[in-house]
Amino acid sequence: MLPPLIGMTLGQLEEVALSGKMPKFVGKQLAQWLYDKRVDSFDQMANISKRNREWLAEHYSIGRYAPSTRTRSADGTVKYLFPTGEGRAVETVYIPDRERATLCVSSQVGCKMNCYFCATGKMGFKAQLTAAQIINQILSAGPADGLSELTNVVFMGMGEPLDNLREVMKVIEILTAPWGFAWSPKRITVSTVGKLPELKELLDATSVHIAVSVHTADAVQRAQLMPAQKAFPVSAVMKLLSGYDFSHQRRLSLEYIVWRGVNDDIAHAEMLVKLIGSVKCRVNLIRFHAIPGVDLRPSSEERMIMLRNYLNNHGIIATIRASRGEDIMAACGMLSTKKGS
Ligand code: SF4
Repeated sequence: MLPPLIGMTLGQLEEVALSGKMPKFVGKQLAQWLYDKRVDSFDQMANISKRNREWLAEHYSIGRYAPSTRTRSADGTVKYLFPTGEGRAVETVYIPDRERATLCVSSQVGCKMNCYFCATGKMGFKAQLTAAQIINQILSAGPADGLSELTNVVFMGMGEPLDNLREVMKVIEILTAPWGFAWSPKRITVSTVGKLPELKELLDATSVHIAVSVHTADAVQRAQLMPAQKAFPVSAVMKLLSGYDFSHQRRLSLEYIVWRGVNDDIAHAEMLVKLIGSVKCRVNLIRFHAIPGVDLRPSSEERMIMLRNYLNNHGIIATIRASRGEDIMAACGMLSTKKGS
């Protein structure tokens, strides 16, 4: 298979042009066709000579490919399955919400983090996605499928994005550079368990929004639910985050799935308030979606409201997240390409 051009930075596209004995500026023209005009064939690249287009088509592919399936939820959410080779696939979820259209992209096939409550974690780790495979999700889902133009991209699909930092950073560069999609970084959110050296690198190199999967402030309980706690304690993650400014443009969200009898009482709310301290953030209280083989149950609406009010009364913005796409197994923690899961 020919190497794909999507997923390449401007510098890489210029190298491609030079290697085909074309002027360097052809690299910029390629970036425009790929990321601004979003063409899916070399023939459409009208300002590149026929000879150069033929050379490109001999040595490279565009890298665009369609999803193998799309499933539409009653609430408008669309779940796509993108093949990644060797019989594997990843899921991408399009979530329309009034004037917003968010695409939830995957960064890995499976995941190493093995969170107890997560369907992707149960698959184990299979492969890293390349920047081309991640960009293809963005180019080939949603608008290319006749849906609204995307307003936001969230790295909250399958995988731990910071476990694939090089490729994720390349995607962020392509999305935000003037020669790429030219998006504001405020349209991008990276969600992580808090993988520490990589989180610092991401915080320093970009100004994208950050979401941290906290789920409980009790260290012992978190280690049971999220083995990553042992290597990256949430207290150390919050200490790192306290050194960054989240009071202006950049946003920090803490994700908190609420389970019945596990983390839905006042004691847990108190621990969470203590953990947050003076760090500016908002807490997303997330309704749990039961998955097979996991004995956790969703908390009640009353408990979630109680937690929200407790946090709000302690000066922390907390919201209960509306559940989307549950009927097509596209809701948080439900993404898995394993049959029957
Ligand atoms: S919740 Fe995220 S980090 Fe944890 S196993 Fe699932 S995909 Fe991986």
